[in-house]
Amino acid sequence: MTIRTPYRPLDITIPFPELKPWARTATRLHPRPGTPTADESSVGGPLLWPSDEEWPVCGEHGRVQGIAPGRVRRYRRILREAYARPRAEDGGPAYTAGERAELDELARTGHRPDRHDGGPLPLLALAQCYTRDVPDLAAFAPPGADLLQVLWCPFYGHEDGPFSEFGPSTLLYWRRSTDVTAPLPVMPEPAVVDRDSYLPEPCVLHPERIVEYPFADYLPRELDERIAAWEDELRTRIGPSAPWYQYDLSLAPGWKVGGWDSWHKTDLDRVYCPTCGTEMRVLLTVDSYETGGSWGAYPEPVGRPTGVEVGRDGEYRAFVCPADPTHPHRMSMQ
Ligand SMILES: [Zn+2]
Ligand SMILES: [Zn+2]
Repeated sequence: MTIRTPYRPLDITIPFPELKPWARTATRLHPRPGTPTADESSVGGPLLWPSDEEWPVCGEHGRVQGIAPGRVRRYRRILREAYARPRAEDGGPAYTAGERAELDELARTGHRPDRHDGGPLPLLALAQCYTRDVPDLAAFAPPGADLLQVLWCPFYGHEDGPFSEFGPSTLLYWRRSTDVTAPLPVMPEPAVVDRDSYLPEPCVLHPERIVEYPFADYLPRELDERIAAWEDELRTRIGPSAPWYQYDLSLAPGWKVGGWDSWHKTDLDRVYCPTCGTEMRVLLTVDSYETGGSWGAYPEPVGRPTGVEVGRDGEYRAFVCPADPTHPHRMSMQ
């Protein structure tokens, strides 16, 4: 299957040729349900992990309430199957009595019916990308590395070091895939996750390279103001269907590698490397949705293929240091 972004409504560098030097490529990942192997790029699939390397754990949560991954999978299967049946008489999904009882139990516990009995929690595999599949990864990869792996701890409330972000804590690993001669056959996973939307569904990727332009706050104020005036004029001339710089012409929604970072919820807050002070660049965007504006790809996804929601319909971005790939990354939520 090939997934493609529609042509932009117009090429923004025709009215604004001064945007050309700001262009960056990004690779949209277009994750879709599938059964990826460790030799493939994926979201929520098995990682190519050396069996003699310890699986990372988080020790910050103790006896914590959540939902077991197996129960999340069962919940999603119930919804999928019920929606595939003919509707019930009241027009809603046709659950069996047993399914209805399980859903009621989940609702009663706020979708957190399970408890972890203490001890460190294995991190969850979130995604892995090979440079051969995701061309924009190459610009970030340390010499020799061809594989990026991303894991996260599916809980908030981290306080120290790499675990101190707002949102689920992430770890990034770069590898040379040929170094992994004895891959781990089965990945560990935590006994519970904080929310069902932190457990990724196995998805294969359909990468597509596009061109992006910066969030307007990154541009010189004078240029930003001329773009805003041009948008107003276009709206007067052709009405409400006129494209917006932010939503149609600059930044693609959805999971992606590279490109630019949007700051539509907070305004721009530049991200600097805590080690050396260099302004960081967005490496990976984890997004709750990939539709929006005129960016809905063909064919469009059904619902939320990865099952992952971050923040409130938000985006969660990993920034890395362009001066030195060994400097710790930082996360940012929008
Ligand atoms: Zn944790
Ligand atoms: Zn740095």
